[in-house]
Amino acid sequence: MARVVVIGAGVGGLAAAARLAAAGHDVTVCEQSSRIGGKLGWYERDGYGFDTGPSLLTMPGVFEDLFAATGGPLRAELDLRRLDPIASYRFADGTTLAAHADDDAFAAELDERLGGGAGGDWRRLAARAARVFDAAEGPFLSSPVRAGGLARLAWASPGDVAAVAPGRSLRGLGRSYLRDPRLRMLLDRYATYSGSDPRRAPAALVSVVHAERRFGGWYVPGGLRRLGEAIARRAEDRGARILLDTRVLRVTRTPGGRVDGVRLADGILLPADVVVANIDAAALYGRLVDDRAGRRHVRRATPSMSGFVLLLALSGSTPALGHHTVTFPADYDGEFDAVFAGRLADDPAVYIAAPADPACAPPDGEAWFVLVNAAAHVPHTADAAPRTQRRGVRGLDWDQPGLADGYARRILDLLAARGLDVRSRLRWYETITPADLERRTGAVGGSIYGGSSNGARAAFLRPPNAARVPGLFLVGGSTHPGGGLPLVVLSAGIVAGLVGPA
Ligand SMILES: Cc1cc2nc3c(=O)[nH]c(=O)nc-3n(C[C@H](O)[C@H](O)[C@H](O)COP(=O)(O)OP(=O)(O)OC[C@H]3O[C@@H](n4cnc5c(N)ncnc54)[C@H](O)[C@@H]3O)c2cc1C
Repeated sequence: MARVVVIGAGVGGLAAAARLAAAGHDVTVCEQSSRIGGKLGWYERDGYGFDTGPSLLTMPGVFEDLFAATGGPLRAELDLRRLDPIASYRFADGTTLAAHADDDAFAAELDERLGGGAGGDWRRLAARAARVFDAAEGPFLSSPVRAGGLARLAWASPGDVAAVAPGRSLRGLGRSYLRDPRLRMLLDRYATYSGSDPRRAPAALVSVVHAERRFGGWYVPGGLRRLGEAIARRAEDRGARILLDTRVLRVTRTPGGRVDGVRLADGILLPADVVVANIDAAALYGRLVDDRAGRRHVRRATPSMSGFVLLLALSGSTPALGHHTVTFPADYDGEFDAVFAGRLADDPAVYIAAPADPACAPPDGEAWFVLVNAAAHVPHTADAAPRTQRRGVRGLDWDQPGLADGYARRILDLLAARGLDVRSRLRWYETITPADLERRTGAVGGSIYGGSSNGARAAFLRPPNAARVPGLFLVGGSTHPGGGLPLVVLSAGIVAGLVGPA
């Protein structure tokens, strides 16, 4: 039995704790804040409740595997609700589109709304997406990637390599399959699921289309936060201890370099044979452990986009509003140009989650979670906390007075111009900026997904799950296989496999 300390009670840390405790290890989770969940946050006020991070759950099988492997089925713990349509889209020319869960219904919708054979084009793309997903699932998503990355990936066949099309961008793939520019825009959006730019993200990200459509988009009544709570309960049921308000300052090491514990902010030393870091890898290698290889990994990656969140407490109801709505601008590229250049996007895509759930709004109101992609937080103050600067990171100081409120008004005006004018129904709103996200979760720059997938090899440049430092492992969105709830839970499975049984 190893003494394991997990730094951070984000979903990845909790899932790793559950698996390692179930495997017989002595597990302690140290969480700096007063609540579990990390980016899977929740905010409530005056009868309104909001998931402040994830709003769409995909690949439920990943969570089912976690629960089955740690002592009992997920469905006994949580009620998952499949969404149909998964999302509704509004384009700048006024076209609307419902992404029905059923493939035939979605293809028929595309033919009816877009014409020009859009349904057939999408089906051909979806078939390609399925091939890419099947090729990548085992060797990439569920396995550790070590030094050598791409070269060591044992793709099953030359056909798989052709399907994955290394070197091609998601945008390039879209151009060759989809004739309608609105449909290409819809495909581009999947790059943002990893905080990336579709012009630079690899074509392999088309696998996200398949993951969403084959396994569905899901909601947890009461809010997605319930998922984090259920994983925490499972970890504790298997014997893990979760210490809140417990900040780790350092990973300590023996003279030989192996980890031997963590130093807490109150000075206490917690001994450990294994340390699993669930915190942003940039923060880990910037502040908690001195390791040149780790720092190199972090610096090589372009951080994923951050997000600007508006929580809107509205009176009344919006006719025909679905659970998820995406409104696109006329010029999507303008948004990616701005965000990666460290500027505010004037006319970004705006995403709305408005669950019809009594846990989220009073009977006479609606709770809208509104998200737009945003540039990283780069403070302009000289006394800013020490940070690991990734190469070429451009951002803006989100703490500038008036910036968040001014941008909130801009987003409300944009929504109004796109047919969703809620300004007269607004009871109150809150903003969550990239700076807030950094303060709350330790995500450097407020990056949502750790490193982005910008670049053909980006997926292989993430800091690996097994650090060079003996006894140190990484779990969560900034390590392999990447960000998003299913992937961070997959990373927990990989780490549990690397640590091994007690
Ligand atoms: C606005 C937003 C929208 C999103 N939408 C979706 C979505 O729809 N679907 C989806 O699947 N994913 C979505 N994501 C991504 C998803 O939330 C993350 O990928 C996932 O929750 C990250 O989990 P993690 O395990 O990496 O840990 P994190 O959530 O990053 O948690 C890390 C934890 O470590 C703690 N910590 C940090 N430093 C220390 C320290 N020194 N000592 C102790 N503890 C420390 C933090 O407080 C935090 O609790 C979204 C994220 C955001 C922010």
